[in-house]
Amino acid sequence: MCGKQHTELGVERLVEKLCRKCSLSLTEYELLVAQRTPKIAQQLAARAVEVRKRVYGTKVFTRGLIEASSYCKNDCLYCGIRRSNCAARRYRLSPDEIVECANNGYELGFRTFVVQGGEDPFFTDDVLCGVVSRIREAHPDCAVTLSFGERSPQSYARLRAAGAERYLLRHETASPELYARWHPSSMSFDNRMRCLGELRAAGFAVGAGFMVGAPFQTAADLARDLKFIELFRPEMCGIGPFIPHHATPFASYPSGSVELTCYVLSIVRIVVPNVLLPATTALGTIDARGRELGILSGANVVMPNLSPVAHRKDYDLYDNKICTGEEVAECRGRLGARMLSIGYQLVVDRGDVAPLSQTNRFETREEQRHGRSI
Ligand code: SAM
Repeated sequence: MCGKQHTELGVERLVEKLCRKCSLSLTEYELLVAQRTPKIAQQLAARAVEVRKRVYGTKVFTRGLIEASSYCKNDCLYCGIRRSNCAARRYRLSPDEIVECANNGYELGFRTFVVQGGEDPFFTDDVLCGVVSRIREAHPDCAVTLSFGERSPQSYARLRAAGAERYLLRHETASPELYARWHPSSMSFDNRMRCLGELRAAGFAVGAGFMVGAPFQTAADLARDLKFIELFRPEMCGIGPFIPHHATPFASYPSGSVELTCYVLSIVRIVVPNVLLPATTALGTIDARGRELGILSGANVVMPNLSPVAHRKDYDLYDNKICTGEEVAECRGRLGARMLSIGYQLVVDRGDVAPLSQTNRFETREEQRHGRSI
């Protein structure tokens, strides 16, 4: 048997082990990533789709994304709205405008609103709690997800008490060394991890996540991300390719690939079978069929943009972001057609994480030995 076949066989065994145990060692995750082939990727995607269909069928959940502010006090080296980008156009939506976006979204069939923004000091707890309670009062059948970065435990507790049920805070990378290369010294890996723990303690469904193909990232780093996801078991996981922004220190680095991003999506679906996994806008930006490919690799969520068209271009995280000009209804209609074309349906649903009983907890060794099905 030639070397390539030998390696492929070894990686196939890793795929089998992953499907059986929902867990690999760090070294095994690294091998799975580093030694992937198109054939392995196909096998992995098929297994991921099988798992996703068992948990969520062919439904695709939608979240209406409201980009509330392009002001940010942080200076992440990869991000177009970083504080030092003096050329960035800054805007913030008023609480009335945010609620208005949610009202429009409700009419169009959205039952989850994700209010996201840079770390903008305008959005104090009082302001955000007001926004959350207004949306919840107007639409009690909807979920509100927040994504406003690192805050204090008291702040997370207040936001939760106001009615926000989910919070997205990507860990960005589970490698402390890489975290330090991507962020200024004022930000720390430890604080990011602390926030994720505090969000969970406050009772949120938590969304972690990371970029794929970002500068200096290796297969060993991705292995650490996968191990982190396996252990932390977030309810949601945002995974998208890195895309350069022309006015950042990472402007000259290439984008991550669709192929590797989809591969990682498949692994995450298998590791956490009921995770809510978006086919991200970034994936749709680097490839016209990126979101379809994401769904066909195991994702089950899409996040159309509900922000006012006038401001869309200014939430400028990376170059050439898609859906900055389309009206919401048009965007949702097109996405719906795209999903139908691959055999999936956008649904009018809050899109909660599937029940924990079967899928969202560690298997005991005893269960693993007896091959508890996922
Ligand atoms: N302030 C909130 C936070 O930090 O979680 C939400 C906004 S932040 C801009 C949202 C996400 O955009 C980040 O977690 C990061 O992964 C992603 N992002 C920023 N710049 C990016 C880039 N150049 N390519 C791909 N994703 C990027």
